[in-house]
Formats: sequence, structure tokens, C-alpha cells
Amino acid sequence: MIIFVFAVIYLEKKGQCCRCCLDPDSSPLWIGLYIGILVLDIIFYCWVIGVGSFCPGIRSMDQLNNINSKINVEEGPSAGADFIAGTEVCTIYTYVGDDGEFDTVESSENDFGIKVGLHEYIHCVQQGQLNGEIDDTTTSYDDIDITILNPCEVDDIFVDKMEAAFESLPSAWRLIPKIVVFLIPRWGCDFQYTMSDLQELVYGAGCPGWSPTLYGLVNEVNAIAEGEAEYYSMNVLSPLAVTDWTTPYDGPAAWNIKMSENFDSCGVPGNEFLTVRDGSSDWLAELGEDILPREGYEDCRGNPIGELTFDYLINYYRTETTATELKEIWRTAFTEGFADAFEQVLGSSWSDFIQDMEQSTEYDINPDSEGYPGQPYRNPNSGSEWGIVTTVMTVVFVILLFVSSFLLLKTLHTKFSNNGTVKPKTTV
Ligand SMILES: [Zn+2]
Repeated sequence: MIIFVFAVIYLEKKGQCCRCCLDPDSSPLWIGLYIGILVLDIIFYCWVIGVGSFCPGIRSMDQLNNINSKINVEEGPSAGADFIAGTEVCTIYTYVGDDGEFDTVESSENDFGIKVGLHEYIHCVQQGQLNGEIDDTTTSYDDIDITILNPCEVDDIFVDKMEAAFESLPSAWRLIPKIVVFLIPRWGCDFQYTMSDLQELVYGAGCPGWSPTLYGLVNEVNAIAEGEAEYYSMNVLSPLAVTDWTTPYDGPAAWNIKMSENFDSCGVPGNEFLTVRDGSSDWLAELGEDILPREGYEDCRGNPIGELTFDYLINYYRTETTATELKEIWRTAFTEGFADAFEQVLGSSWSDFIQDMEQSTEYDINPDSEGYPGQPYRNPNSGSEWGIVTTVMTVVFVILLFVSSFLLLKTLHTKFSNNGTVKPKTTV
């Protein structure tokens, strides 16, 4: 459009322009403009949804910015994981070191970062199930493609132990074919990946399979997700990963210490403000970052709340609960929502579970508790911000496609109905 305007101004100045040049019914400039808009519209939409050599544009740029901000520690160190629907790749961001130093001496307390790495991997498995990608037909991958990226060049011992930890995954957890870990010092470094790095190192050329819309996390219940990730990382996966260490990290002991700290920092039993409700990430954020700190429980954040909730589920409320059942809940939540999935698999409602927890002597939150409804089903395609963004882009694409096609055809028709000549000028 800008080129078109400049072209008209240039021709006008040279005295070579006239009304016919600006006549949208026949001018070659207008024909060029309509074709240009049409082509750019199609290219832009291919970029948005990720056709051919394009990764889904907006979503992949967001992912690239996310990875680079984690490496630069722009908002402080914050581990995380993504299993983006369709990619078959689990990406993990995890931190090692403290106060500018790395502890490279084995001890029962030094996990070399694997505890968090495995915790985040469990989040990937949860997301894969919530995306419908890991289902009851998914079998164990004997050979997992494991890549540990070390952009800030932390000591190799952390890289080696992280890689060995993922190689030691038991068959029940070998559910994702490719794992890429971004290993970052807690103080970060000045390093930036590019979009082509992301394709080469992580997702493959053109990010094959990557869904521009599907976002299974809309059906996640954060309280259970966080508790499950921490519990299984420390009590099941970490012990398997340290068997050949000279002085192994003791995950189960660390879990027991962590739980007694959680009871203490969250004021349990007896904290009437610790109402987990539906366990959603929105509610846990409000509870852990606003309500509880205001009431004097500064350290009772989302993760401790999730660990307490999960601990009550498997150690008090329903002690026979298994890892297989928990996986079935996430898989079922993909199609039924979390509340129905919880009830179908465990045989009691989320509301009954919350009521039991709040009334129990171990937690003693509210003796008159009536429970709280579980989180209902949300469509993982249309219920996410990516679904909304893609829908808006599709509407814009279709409108531009129709308008520019209509104007192009109209102009061509006018031009050629005049036997290929421009209309006679009425003035000069
Ligand atoms: Zn977590």
C-alpha cells in the first residue's frame, strides 16, 4: 500500500499520472495492489497457522521469547516445561547453581538440578495427556532423543547428570520421544536463540505437527499437577536416577522435609484461609500470591498448596491411588474435563474430596465445609488464547481474501471488457 502511494506521487510529479492511473476500475497500479494484498494475505495466514516451512508464527515467536527470557532470567529464575500439541517434543527450562557458584560435590542434599528437571518432565507428560497426544495406546519409547542445551556453559557435570536422569526413566514414564532441556545458571547469561535455532535444535524444520490452536492446559488442575510432579520426581524418578552416584541424592528424605515445611508455612492444621476450591491455576495464584501472604502466610505459594492437596489425596483420602490412575485422570480430562475425569477414575467427586480435606483433623480448615465444585470441561481448541488468536486471524484472512479477490476480478473485467484498452480520459 505504501509503495503504491509513493508510486502515484512519483508519477504525478513527473506529470505522467492522470485520472486513469488512479481509476480503481482499470488502472494497472490498482491491479498490482489487489494482487499484492491477495498474495501477502495468503503468505501471512500460512505464517500464522504454520504451513510448509513456517512454524505457527505468533505462537512460535512467543515460545522463542519465552525461552530467551528464561535464559536471560529477565523475571528471575523460574523453571517450566512445554509439550506443545503436535510437536512430540518436551522442552524443559531448569536452573542450577546458587549465589554465582556451582555445587559440584555429591551429597544426599545435592540433586544437581535433576529433581526440578524430572518435575518439569512430569508436567510435559501431564500436558501430553491433556493435549490428547499421550493416550492409552501410547507405548513406552525405548530410545528417547535427549538433548541438553547449555547456552551459558555451566559445568559439564550438571549436563551429564541431567542426561543420565532422563535415560534412567522407567518404562511407565517413557511416553515422549524427544526431550530438550535448557540448562541455565540461576543468574542467567546474555544469550539469544533464533527462530532457526529453535527449528534446528528442538522442533525440526517448519515445526512439523505443531498445532496453532490446541492448548490442553485449559483442563489442568494446578493443585494436583504440581503435587503429582513434585511427589513423583522426588519419591520415584529421582531415586532411579541416582543409583550409580557415589553419594546419592535422597529424594524421599527431601520430600519429607519439604512436607513438614509446607505444613508449617501454610499453617496446617487450622488455616481457615487455605481453601483450595477447584484447584485451578487462577485460583491458586490469587490464593498464594494475594490472600495468604496478606494473612501472614508469605511462603504458602501455589506449589506448597498443590503439594499439601496432593499429599492429602494419596496419603489420607484415598491411599490406594496409583500413578496409572492419575495418568488416566489427565487423559480423560482432555475429553471430559477434570471434574468428571476425577470422579470417573477415583469414584468420588472433587467436591467430596475438598470437603473431606477441609473437615479432616489433619488439615482442620473448615469443619462446616460443603466442598467445592470441580473444574468443568473447557474446549482445548477454542478455549485458549491461541484458539482465540487463530480465530481472529482466520476472520481477517477470509475478509481480505474476499475483498481483494472481488476488487481484482472487477478491475480485470472492466479493463478487458474495454478490449484491453484503458477508458478514455475525460480530462487531462
Ligand atoms: Zn511444577
